[in-house]
Amino acid sequence: KYYNMVEDMKGKIRVFCRIRPLSRSEAAQGGAVAVEKIDDYSVAVETPRGPREFQFDKVFVAEASQEQLFQDTNRLIQSAIDGYNVCIFAYGQTGSGKTFTMVGDKEQKNPGIMPRSFNAIFDIIRDSSSKFLFKVSAYMLELYNDRLQDLLAPPAADAMALPGAARRVEIKRNRKGVVFAQGAETKEASSAQELYALFQQAGANRHISATKMNVESSRSHLIVCIMVESRNLTNGSVSTGKLSLVDLAGSERAAKTGAKDHQLKEANSINKSLSALGDVISALSAELPHVPYRNSKLTQVMQDSLGGNAKTLMIVNISPSECNLEETLTSLVYATRVK
Ligand code: ADP
Ligand code: MG
Repeated sequence: KYYNMVEDMKGKIRVFCRIRPLSRSEAAQGGAVAVEKIDDYSVAVETPRGPREFQFDKVFVAEASQEQLFQDTNRLIQSAIDGYNVCIFAYGQTGSGKTFTMVGDKEQKNPGIMPRSFNAIFDIIRDSSSKFLFKVSAYMLELYNDRLQDLLAPPAADAMALPGAARRVEIKRNRKGVVFAQGAETKEASSAQELYALFQQAGANRHISATKMNVESSRSHLIVCIMVESRNLTNGSVSTGKLSLVDLAGSERAAKTGAKDHQLKEANSINKSLSALGDVISALSAELPHVPYRNSKLTQVMQDSLGGNAKTLMIVNISPSECNLEETLTSLVYATRVK
């Protein structure tokens, strides 16, 4: 029933905007709200120079549940199983709700897009198992300071392979243009539980650093890639789809987080990769002949899932609070480069 919408989406980048609830500390600072939803497709922002409006494919407010968001995302999971490359990523400043959207809350009482996708993949597979034979595999990476790290590598094996340093991961493309992570483990999963276990292993291997804004904020990009190979049992044909799920590092500028030295290096590397992503997205939406994928490792990893026949969904996460107005505006402007 979603078929027409999915067809329309091919090669296009959809943008959702999600406004999270006011946080306790924002409420404590007076709770002034600067962002409001106008309708399902637009938000209004109260700026010092007057109101501004931004358009989206869909707007989600504080009350919107994880289920509601996933209902509008689910069809993309079907597309990945149908053989498309699909990319879903969350963009926004630290604390805006990216991890909540992609992963969910810590206790997983409110799971986000990643765990829901794991379940959806295997639900869809179960329903088509009489006609297709499926193989699901995944690699999970962290991009930190312009270095790719394999989150599924066993630590002991790593130390043996290259003492004192993590194994080198490089992004390559095969003859069909499919991106793969050379040097990284690709693990098979035969159930949603197995895929989730891999994801938890990946989480435990992440590089976490504290900043002033959010103690557990991640200053790295988390990239989860799931390949779904399906063999048609009637004619033997094989198709492979790929679902890339990305929780980007915070988009805020260095000054606000009180960054120093190594933190400044982190911030510069994040800014560089996010602006390279913005350049790719705007080149695609302007249908420019040259798309600058090669300018950062982030865009290289995402290359086969942005543009071409790929289906891309960007979720811009924002705070409703007046305290975050500047960063919110920056995020909204970034997001509208897509249009
Ligand atoms: P980010 O990953 O962008 O730094 P988080 O996802 O960690 O931000 O969100 C910051 C805090 O706000 C977390 O405690 C998170 O649980 C909460 N939060 C974010 N979005 C929502 C939401 N839509 N509903 C309820 N809580 C949210
Ligand atoms: Mg986060």
